[in-house]
Amino acid sequence: MTRGSLFDDHVHSSMSPDARDGVAALCDVALERGLAGLAITDHFDTEPADPGYGHYDCDRLSREVEQARRAYEGRLAILVGAEICFQPVFLPRIVAFLDACPLDFALGSVHWIERELVDRAYLAQHGADAAYEGYLRIVEQAVGTGLFDAIAHLDLPKRHLPPEHGLVDLRPHWAALERILKLMVEQGTALEINVSGWRHGLGEPLPCEAVVRRYRELGGTRITIGTDSHRIGVLGRDIARGQELARRAGFTHVTRFVGRRPLSMPI
Ligand SMILES: [Zn+2]
Ligand SMILES: [Zn+2]
Repeated sequence: MTRGSLFDDHVHSSMSPDARDGVAALCDVALERGLAGLAITDHFDTEPADPGYGHYDCDRLSREVEQARRAYEGRLAILVGAEICFQPVFLPRIVAFLDACPLDFALGSVHWIERELVDRAYLAQHGADAAYEGYLRIVEQAVGTGLFDAIAHLDLPKRHLPPEHGLVDLRPHWAALERILKLMVEQGTALEINVSGWRHGLGEPLPCEAVVRRYRELGGTRITIGTDSHRIGVLGRDIARGQELARRAGFTHVTRFVGRRPLSMPI
């Protein structure tokens, strides 16, 4: 079987406040690790309480990616992206950002539920089921805006469960997941396989294989794969494993977005 190319389409650079590596360094290492491309998806944070608020610099990122494209021409396909943090109350901010910043790839994500950060403390306070329910409600609204090319880490709360908890039984949340996946299929929104779950010891990516498989069964054709790396050491890690999972779920291609238009790449 011919194997396709490896793309890491969820990467944070030093333009995210919680990451520290510059675009050029990331590209050097991407080549060393045999990647064919990467998307720099720094945080566009909309919640003023977030340390990353106001940090995204569209001009600087576009400039650095442009320089890197010249330096690595023909060897590495580099995309200007943003991981856009959705909360319904901040929708106008997102619309203005998308109008102003010429992105290749708009990756929608949810980190906050009604102005509360979804983290370990949130899970401890509200419990896993309430966190999933609230989280999926906001994800559904994010998808419903039709503003995003792909949706990141569809079931993020599991990353913040205490290790002794074990994975959440998805059955009570399956109806919400189905609604979200159907809406994504209707709109052509891509589903991200966020492979960070493996390196965080969850034993599966975000979302899990059953959800990826269901998206395919419902007619979904667009998958993106990313590490969500904030450290150069994990750039590209488990992308091949993510592709294997995608193939098992029935996908023959991943989708990359160039100038917000989908491009199919064989895997
Ligand atoms: Zn995220
Ligand atoms: Zn991220």
